[in-house]
Amino acid sequence: MARETGRAMVWTAIDTPLELREYPLPELEDDAMLVKITMACICGSDLHSYKGEYVGRLKPSKEKPLIMGHEMSGRVYRMGRNVKTDYLGQPLKEGDRIIYSYFNPCGKCWACVSGSAPCPNKHRFRKSSVEFPHFRGAFAEYYYLRGDQWVFKVPDELPDETVTPINCALSTVTYGMHQVRIPFEGTVLIQGAGGLGLSAAAIAKEMGGARVIVVDKLAERLELSKSFGADHTISLNEYPTPEARLERVMQLTGGKGVDLAVEVVGRPEVVAEGLEMLCPSGTYLTMGLVTGGLISNLDLEKVVHKGLTIVGSGNYKAWVLPKVLDLLVRTRDKYPFDKLVSHKFKLEDVNEGIQLSIEGKVIRAGVVPG
Ligand SMILES: [Zn+2]
Ligand SMILES: [Zn+2]
Repeated sequence: MARETGRAMVWTAIDTPLELREYPLPELEDDAMLVKITMACICGSDLHSYKGEYVGRLKPSKEKPLIMGHEMSGRVYRMGRNVKTDYLGQPLKEGDRIIYSYFNPCGKCWACVSGSAPCPNKHRFRKSSVEFPHFRGAFAEYYYLRGDQWVFKVPDELPDETVTPINCALSTVTYGMHQVRIPFEGTVLIQGAGGLGLSAAAIAKEMGGARVIVVDKLAERLELSKSFGADHTISLNEYPTPEARLERVMQLTGGKGVDLAVEVVGRPEVVAEGLEMLCPSGTYLTMGLVTGGLISNLDLEKVVHKGLTIVGSGNYKAWVLPKVLDLLVRTRDKYPFDKLVSHKFKLEDVNEGIQLSIEGKVIRAGVVPG
């Protein structure tokens, strides 16, 4: 019998279109699963990788290509002999829909042992696609899921468009927001209305935010943010300077400023602007500044005299995934999470999706292996 194979779009060099390759499906270790990917999404951090902005971290080559992509969902295709359930003890069988973490915290470093920070060793199992088990990225037909990656069964009522952004965008935002506090009748400002920002608007509302203000430059994103809970939007076209935007925020908050500002843009220059918009004792949460070397010029006197808190957050813990599934089921008629995937591409057309994402023409691009 011929050995089964799967297709993958592999990455061979910085800023170079991905190429189609085919690999044999791997033999399974006892605790592993092979997932048939039903949809992947192109995340902002994939674009940073593609453009070479993660200095020294990812170095693909023709001889050692990588499969990009980490935001995905799929169905159990094959199970190792020890796999019986998901991480909540729910029985698993071939064909079940699942979500899973794309990273494996090592469990044996100070970040893992002490609490909430991301594990610095979490991608140590990232391998070239020429090596076993070949399928360790999302832009492929299959994904080799190690036994130490958290996996949860997906409720039938959630479509792939809603489920796929969970394992990066939505869980990262949810965990970050969980690390901060929104006070009674609090106002939340969100800098950026991409997939993370729209999710953050809804999470802010679900955490009891009385008012949510979203800042972006694209009119259609700002319009969509209203259905994710935004009460006010501030367009960079209408308010082109930081001073004009600050004045608008002060108008909207009766001169007090916002209780929580959330950065999901990935540009360090917005931090100073966000800090200015905070009320005394306010909190600034940054989740988008992930590429390294992002230097910001801050007037830190404000941090002292206004009693501000700056919080950074990345990745998430296992508990976030099932909580987010619950949230999506409970609020499926309230927020259009299925609209976050605004465009879909076939696996072999992923380069088109990457280009449109780089140009900012999509909210989140979905990749469907078919
Ligand atoms: Zn991501
Ligand atoms: Zn660790």
